Amino acid sequence: MKQVANFINGQSVTTGNTFEKISPVTGKPVALIHEADRATVDQAVAAADAAMSGPWGKMPLAQRCQLLYKIADEIERRMDDFVAVECEDVGVPEAMARTIFIGRAAFLFRMYADQAREHLDQAYNFDTPDGGRALAYTYHRPKGVIGAIAPWNVPMLLLAFKVAPAMAAGNTIVAKPSEVTPQSATLLAEVMKSVGVPDGVYNVVHGFGRESAGEYLTENKSVMAYSFTGESTTGAVIMRAAATGLRDVSLELGGKNPAIIFADANLDAVFPGSSMSCFSNTGQICLSTERLYVQRPIYEEFVERLAGVASAIKIGGPFETGVQMGPLVSHNHREKVITAIESARDEGGQVVYGGEIPEFGDERDGGAFIQPTIITGLPESASFVRNEVFGPVTHIQPFDEEDEAVHMATNTAYGLTSTIWTQDISCGHRVASQMKSGLIWLNSWQLRDLRAPFSGHGLSGVGTQGGRESLEFFSDVSTVTLKI
Ligand code: NAD
Repeated sequence: MKQVANFINGQSVTTGNTFEKISPVTGKPVALIHEADRATVDQAVAAADAAMSGPWGKMPLAQRCQLLYKIADEIERRMDDFVAVECEDVGVPEAMARTIFIGRAAFLFRMYADQAREHLDQAYNFDTPDGGRALAYTYHRPKGVIGAIAPWNVPMLLLAFKVAPAMAAGNTIVAKPSEVTPQSATLLAEVMKSVGVPDGVYNVVHGFGRESAGEYLTENKSVMAYSFTGESTTGAVIMRAAATGLRDVSLELGGKNPAIIFADANLDAVFPGSSMSCFSNTGQICLSTERLYVQRPIYEEFVERLAGVASAIKIGGPFETGVQMGPLVSHNHREKVITAIESARDEGGQVVYGGEIPEFGDERDGGAFIQPTIITGLPESASFVRNEVFGPVTHIQPFDEEDEAVHMATNTAYGLTSTIWTQDISCGHRVASQMKSGLIWLNSWQLRDLRAPFSGHGLSGVGTQGGRESLEFFSDVSTVTLKI
């Protein structure tokens, strides 16, 4: 079987301890992953630390940026290889892997090369108490070794969101991809090597969280900052570990995202938008909508039509023609989603559509598939309405007045995204101004300019990521003042 090794100081590093990567499409093992023990993780951090004082640390910004451009070119040249491993790991339809998972990841390396060149220092010319003048100016320098801990839902893109700005700002990296989706981070190591990124700048360690590579990485005090994307509870654990030594954290966490659909909304746009926001990538996008609030006059029609849209979604493997929705990422995760649907039934919810495991009559029956699922009738206190499920599931609730919708939509400890559908511009902006979330969409979903900042409020995150904000996070600022 295919072996996936760690990557340290420009070399593949195998360990005595392997675990299987299981295909979410068939349930069969597809690769053996070499788990990093504490010594292997420490070796990766030491390599990253040493690389800061090697050629990378002395490399002029322009040359660093050229390397980032070459990384983007090489990712695109090896697009088919990247698409193959992302499809194998996640089970996502090929077109989505190509355009979003890999295409946008390549874009980020170019974008951060451009932004790093324009990452401006500041200068202040000021009066001194003795009647003279002084000049204060700032410069940015890299923080050092960055721990990049990534989730499984969009593996390559979410890793690139960390690696590209961290490298653009001159840092070195130890990446810890999810144990469920280890392959694209490893392929990226091949790209780094082939375009001439100095050894030790980008390292990969494989393994799990607790008592494995993730935890060991957070316990190594030579890592100066962590960029983490994953569950809110894991974020809290990482923040606690980073507090030892007061190391910095940037946390992109979970969500329980609402959409408010007013009766005057353009339903021709709402249905494709809502279907995408609930079911694309099998609901495994942190930006996905799991709570829909629909104004009473269109509620019945809305539920019926969205159920129709859901029932028409073609489910299957990544490379099947016309497939819109793949499996969940793993059987473990499907268990969690099924448990959440059962809890919704127990709490009085009605499953309007879905909730079942589809039958194919072939090897896909061994996969982690589930139908898109629409539930109604739950109270706002139900755990299904309060807690992130992270699957192709959504709950629809009617409302009468704008204030009621705003209250229900914001009655959550999370604050990642909100979506508002209305043709009344004033209402749209009024409601948008009351949403406590980092990203708010009006009459669209998931339109993103990657230069724009992105942050999670409340349980959804700490810090702001995206364009310049990421470069700031991965830099330390020094101010020099001189009397002139
Ligand atoms: P997770 O928290 O289980 O794991 C994420 C990563 O952390 C994995 O690499 C895992 O091995 C590692 N990890 C787990 N425990 C650890 C520990 N104790 N110490 C160090 N590392 C540890 O998350 P997941 O299940 O992989 O991803 C799904 C979650 O990610 C969802 O909650 C989703 O909303 C969230 N997410 C958020 C964003 C965002 O931008 N806000 C984007 C994508 C996903």
